[in-house]
Amino acid sequence: MSKENLISKLLKDYDSALNHSGVNGERLGHRLAMLSEIGATADGGVNRPGFSAEEKLAKEQVKVWMKDAGLKVWEDGAGNVFGRLSGLADSIPAVASGSHVDSVPNGGNFDGPLGVLAALEVVEAWKYTGYRPQRPFEVVIFSDEEGARFNGSLTGSMSLMGTIDLEKQLQLTDFNGDSFEEVLEKYGTSLDDLKKASSHKKDIGLFVEVHIEQGKRLEKAGLPVGIVSGIAGPCWLEIIFSGKAGHAGNTPMNDRKDALVAAGEFVVAVETLPEKVSSTAVATVGKLSVHPNGVNVIPGEVSLFADIRDIYENTRDELVSLVTEKANSIAQTRGMEVSIKVNTSVKPVPIDESIQKKLEKAFLENQIEPMRLPSGAGHDSMVLGEEIPVGMIFVRSKDGISHNPKEWSSLNDCVISVHVLKSFIESL
Ligand SMILES: [Zn+2]
Repeated sequence: MSKENLISKLLKDYDSALNHSGVNGERLGHRLAMLSEIGATADGGVNRPGFSAEEKLAKEQVKVWMKDAGLKVWEDGAGNVFGRLSGLADSIPAVASGSHVDSVPNGGNFDGPLGVLAALEVVEAWKYTGYRPQRPFEVVIFSDEEGARFNGSLTGSMSLMGTIDLEKQLQLTDFNGDSFEEVLEKYGTSLDDLKKASSHKKDIGLFVEVHIEQGKRLEKAGLPVGIVSGIAGPCWLEIIFSGKAGHAGNTPMNDRKDALVAAGEFVVAVETLPEKVSSTAVATVGKLSVHPNGVNVIPGEVSLFADIRDIYENTRDELVSLVTEKANSIAQTRGMEVSIKVNTSVKPVPIDESIQKKLEKAFLENQIEPMRLPSGAGHDSMVLGEEIPVGMIFVRSKDGISHNPKEWSSLNDCVISVHVLKSFIESL
């Protein structure tokens, strides 16, 4: 979408009564539109891979706004950008808020930029009203959140937290065949400087992120924003059913070990298991390959992936056990072998009840019903939440569409997220 189209669409239904307490929806809308021009694609999306010239340009644009707002601005060796407003008590760890400005290939205009610009809008509002926060406040842009460059995400936030696996990272090459180290150098930093990024971790006491929901829960509830109750950590099981291939015409039905029938039974069973552990758990079989995959051949082997998630580690692991038991019992009943391997396991990050309660108060102050909902996708908050308290505010996504040029959140909803973010930070 061109900048003009995006801004006119954003402003069309904007309720200017939301411009109060120093928050200005037109400014937020114009900034979203200006970032949408950087790496713009033909069908209205954006292409801003991590560490690309486009990601860098978007950061440079935000830095200009940060400086205009009176923030002290710097970039660390991982390409993370910080804009700091000193607090009345400046020696205590800061409250930080932000997100990312990189995108997936042909991604949308809200995933990432909204979180950065919402945090900046809070500073703009304070500047207007003369408010000074007790604690220092930092607006943050994390590098390479989406991982479009190396198929590994959250590079910036993991560098800040010192949890990045550099051994693994150094083996990666991007879509141009460049190594991680080469990409860093082309961007203008180095591996040594990236390693120093974690020295700032101790200065951050709490992180709060505004992000689009990328789902339909808020839309279904008719609510503009919601409180994230926890961030689900995925566990990927790679499961292989090994039966016996054979001729589809010459093998009688009572003499078969059809791996696809076993896999089919498994897929149907997986759908019924999450509700046995919690209301937030989910499980999906999204990738499956059949061998030998011939029209007239009984499938001898099926390999598949089960993606299992929940916001609590104990119920997530309970679900992993149930899925594993199910695969084993199906294979046993059908007299075939099954192998099960944990391919990826990321710890879920529950969000402190005390933070959710404070967010609830901020919602009520702004006359918004405080609905809680889990985050099924990973975010920079998940990485920071392993060590420091985090909060997350979700903004309604039209039709739940994301990672797509059609991604949409109304300016009204975006501005409401700024108001609740501001009330929350002021309450700390
Ligand atoms: Zn995002």
